[in-house]
Parts: sequence; C-alpha cells; structure tokens
Amino acid sequence: MTKQITSLLIANRGEIACRIIRTAREMGIRTVAVYSDADARALHVQQADEAVHIGPSPARESYLIGDKIIAAAKATGAEAIHPGYGFLSENAEFAQAVIDAGLVWVGPKPSSITAMGLKDAAKKLMTDAGVPVTPGYMGENQDPAFLAERASEIGYPVLIKAVAGGGGKGMRKVDAPGDFIEALASCQREAAASFGNDHVLIEKYILTPRHIEVQVFGDTHGNVVHLFERDCSLQRRHQKVIEEAPAPGMDEVTREALCAAAVRAAQAVDYVGAGTIEFIADASEGLRADRIWFMEMNTRLQVEHPVTEEITGVDLVEWQLRVASGEPLPLAQDGLSIDGWAMEARLYAEDPAKGFLPSIGTLELFQLSEADGGRIDTGVYEGGAVSPFYDPMVAKLIAYGADREEARLTLSEMLEDSAVWPVKTNSAFLINALEHPDFVAGTVDTGLIGRDGDAMTAEPMPSAQALTNAAMALVPRSLQAGFRLNAPDVRSAPFLLDGKRVEVDLHGPGAEELAPAMLVAEKGAVWQLSPWRAEGNAGGAAGDGAILSPMPGKVIAVEVAAGDTVTKGQKLLTLEAMKMEHSLTAPFDGVVAELNVAAGAQVQVEALLVRIEKEE
Ligand code: ADP
Repeated sequence: MTKQITSLLIANRGEIACRIIRTAREMGIRTVAVYSDADARALHVQQADEAVHIGPSPARESYLIGDKIIAAAKATGAEAIHPGYGFLSENAEFAQAVIDAGLVWVGPKPSSITAMGLKDAAKKLMTDAGVPVTPGYMGENQDPAFLAERASEIGYPVLIKAVAGGGGKGMRKVDAPGDFIEALASCQREAAASFGNDHVLIEKYILTPRHIEVQVFGDTHGNVVHLFERDCSLQRRHQKVIEEAPAPGMDEVTREALCAAAVRAAQAVDYVGAGTIEFIADASEGLRADRIWFMEMNTRLQVEHPVTEEITGVDLVEWQLRVASGEPLPLAQDGLSIDGWAMEARLYAEDPAKGFLPSIGTLELFQLSEADGGRIDTGVYEGGAVSPFYDPMVAKLIAYGADREEARLTLSEMLEDSAVWPVKTNSAFLINALEHPDFVAGTVDTGLIGRDGDAMTAEPMPSAQALTNAAMALVPRSLQAGFRLNAPDVRSAPFLLDGKRVEVDLHGPGAEELAPAMLVAEKGAVWQLSPWRAEGNAGGAAGDGAILSPMPGKVIAVEVAAGDTVTKGQKLLTLEAMKMEHSLTAPFDGVVAELNVAAGAQVQVEALLVRIEKEE
C-alpha cells in the first residue's frame, strides 16, 4: 500500500539535515527541523519549514532523546521521521517507538537494525548467509587473558573492535602480544564511554587493507538492488577522509561477485531502505573476489552517499522517501549503471598541525567553491559557528568527472579555493592527500595516512608572494618610503603571521593607511597577517610551552608529573572531548614547569593545563 509522505521531521542536524530538506522540498514535502540550544541559529533550522526546540546543547539531552523527537513530530503533525546518520539512525528501539507512535520510519525494519547492530552478531549472521567474513574471535568470553590467547591464535597484528562501535571509534590495532592488555583496556574504556557497551571482538588485521563498500537498497515489495561500490580507503585512525566511486582497479568480475554478496547480505536481514555493506579487501595483489570480506552493515544513509548519487544519477534520499511511502524501487538492477567518477572530501573544523584537534568558534570567513562540476553539502554558513558539542565536519566537497583524474583535479581545485577563518580546517591536508602518489595511482590502503601523514599535516605556510601582496596592503606608503630612505637595500619588515614573527619582502605600492590586520588566503589555508609591534609580541604561540586546553573536555590521563624532563612530541596528557581521546604532547624538549590538572578534571577551553619550560 502506498501513501505518499507529505510532511517529514528530520531528527538530525548539520549538513545531513540540510541535505534531506533539499530533496524533501523538491518532492513537495513539508519539513520540520529539531534543534538544541547551540543550534538555535543553525542552517537546518533556517531551511526547514518549521523547527522545534528539543533541549540543551549536549546531544544526549536533545538529539539523542527519542521521546522529545517523537513529541515534536506529533506536535507539528509530521507524518514521518528521517534520522539521517549518526544519533538515533541505527537505534532499533527508537525506530520501533516511531512506528508505535503511528509515524512512518524512514529506514529499515527495527529487526534488521538489531540483526546488524552489533558487529559480532552480524558477522555470525553473514557467515550463515554465505557472505565471507574477516577471520577472528567474536564470542561472549571477555576475559582479558582469554582474549589475549585468541589474539595470539589469530596471529598478530590484530584489531580489537568494540562490538557496538562505529564511526571508527572503539578500535585498536595491536602489533605485538606485549601491547595487547593495555590496548584492550583503552578500547574498552572508549567503548563504554561512547557506546555504553564495552564488549569487543578480535579480528585478524588485514594487511594492505582497502575499504570497499557497496550501496544497497531494498523496498517493501521484496526487491533488493545494489548501486555499486565506493572506495573509502583513505582513512585517518579508521575514519574516512576521502571517498570515491567507483573503486579504482575494480574489474567487472570482482565487482559482480562483491555486489552480489552485498545483495545477499541485505536479503539475509530482509532489508528495506538505504544500507551499506562494508567490506575489507586484502589488496596486496590488487582487488580479488576471494580476498574481500564482510566487515559490517550500516543500516542507514552514509555520509559518503553523494559519490554514489553522482555516478548513478539516483537521488538516494528520494528513494528513501519513496520506499518509506510504500512505493517499489524506481529502478531495477538492469536499469542502474555507472557513469563517470566522483570523489568526496570531508572538510573538518580541525587543525591537522595540532594533532587534528577540533577547532571551534565563529566562522567569520566561510567561502567554498564549487569549481566546475562540484557539489557542496554543508550545514554551516559564514557568520555562523562551529560548536564543541557535535561532530566538527563543516562540509562535504564532492567533485564529479568523466574519469578519476578529472574528479581528483576538480576536488583539489575546490579545496584550494576554499577559505575558512579563524576556525582551522583540514583543507591543506586534504589537498596534500589528493596529491600523494599512491592516491594519484589509486592504490591507497587504509594505513597510508598513518605512514605518510606527517608530510601531509605539516603546517601550511603562505608563499612569499602571497605574504608580500598582503603586507603591501598593510604598510602605509610613507613607511615604505622610510625603508628606502634609511636603508636603501633593506626592503623587508617584520610582521606577525598568526602571532608568529615573519620577515616579509616589500615590493610595489602600499596603502595610505595602516590596516590593523589582514587575511592571507592561499591553497585552502587562511592566515592572519598583522603589523609587528615592538612590545606585546613576546609570549606568542612560538616557543611558548603553555599547553592550553583546545576545547572543553575531561582529562582522562596525565602521563607526566611536575618537574619531569620531557622530549618533543612526548605525550603529556589525554583529553576526552567530542567523544574522542586526544593526546596533548610536548612542543619541545624541556621540563614540566607547571601541571595544573589531574585525571578526571573537567577543563574549559583555553585553560592552562601544563607548561613546559626549555632547559637552560
Ligand atoms: P566502524 O563501525 O567504526 O566504521 P569498521 O568495522 O567499519 O568500524 O571499520 C572501520 C575501518 O577500520 C575500516 O574501514 C578499515 O579501515 C579498518 N578495519 C576494520 N577492520 C579491519 C581489519 N580486520 N583489518 C584491517 N583494518 C580494518
């Protein structure tokens, strides 16, 4: 029975809420947004036809409270709820509660979510359905000594995975038996904090691993199709960085075998709606059907769904809404084909040069470019803010091309033309990744950033020309004339670049007035250039050993004591913020002159945690 949905509540925020609103609007569906305190002025709230406040900023007091969301749907007369990804999207209890409330759930049956919800149970189910799974231990016994024995049997390296894990969290690679117990404890701690479940499974760590996933779609009439594969092998700490479709080096025979296995997996759980079957491939000899194993199923729309949309011409959100309305899938398998190549980069508000710490604050500058053939999915805007409460992804940049190289170059251009400030982004890092020879060749494995990441995360510096151009606008002509008079050969002057002293060549005409500060934007990075002043420059970021808390969070471990001698890069303490563990390290060799926190302390942003002093 079909009943076209005419109003939809989106139980999410950020870019995915905006993405869903776009298609709903095109289909003539009325949209209802929900929002927390921090999101009162968020883009999804502005774009929806109606918006309901559902509580304080922390997600567990707003976006994660199913009852509030269902009440909001009832109050606004919304007929259906789309959960987006993350938050409640894979919560079977919530899905059931939505259905019990007489609303349409835009997603799979709760029983399908449950069947795939825990990684261990899903692997068992897939084995029964004849889908190859990664070798490992997925049993009940969680005794550390017992798990260590299983790990040795499986053979190192192994991967410890939280059975309830997701989003790359709750995973530890262990290279040697001696490290197992500590890695297990850390993994369990993160799993308990993030997922409320500390059970783990142990898997063989696949060498030269590539992450290949297949988009599947089912309807309520028993049809299941696939929409080909995506390659998400470029990862940092198991989190996807750049995704593309199709997968480089995939031949037709392997594709058919892989996609058929994905369809079998979806059928095994009676799947309805959009889902993704994630596989891991041992790519040491290219992609081969007998070396690709099931990892898990994500029973929702994925972050990276746009690359599939770009190569198939299908609007996956439209399909979700049609299927939820009871319609059959708009296309059968033989109506689907791959056209061209698409690549997506996740633009994060974070600072790669500082260990990828999230960067929060007002987006005084937020300019993205679509170049030629680009698509931007975002949930923020210039003048808006990145809050510390949620995932710091600010946009997805998606490039399409006739072939892989065209898509890659377009994506690079989009990133180079982006300008975000004073919030830091990973833009320069993404450009470096796109230019890595392995990426260019299409032979990336998931360990690439772990091995070569340092070169990609180096703090970007503006070119001498860009600095000169900016400096000329800052220096009044009279002052430039002064340079010439006093020292005819010296044509440079000191400036402050993001608080650090730099010497800049001065050529060409300056401005009449001394501007207080200026932004320099180049290759996806933005800096602030300001005039050097004799006083007030000391103690800036350079050479200062003050370790400030980069965001509000909780100190979960302190590795040093006051008076300790430390070496550059040594871990000082671990901060938990935005559900992730972040290591803060020594900026140079020295001694711990000040230590202001102990494990367990809640800290505010910019709190002085530790101060390192250089040894005389
Ligand atoms: P999550 O649910 O957190 O996304 P997954 O199980 O999908 O976790 O794994 C995330 C990533 O971790 C994969 O894309 C892959 O890079 C890596 N990974 C997972 N399992 C293995 C394995 N057995 N060997 C090597 N890498 C793995």
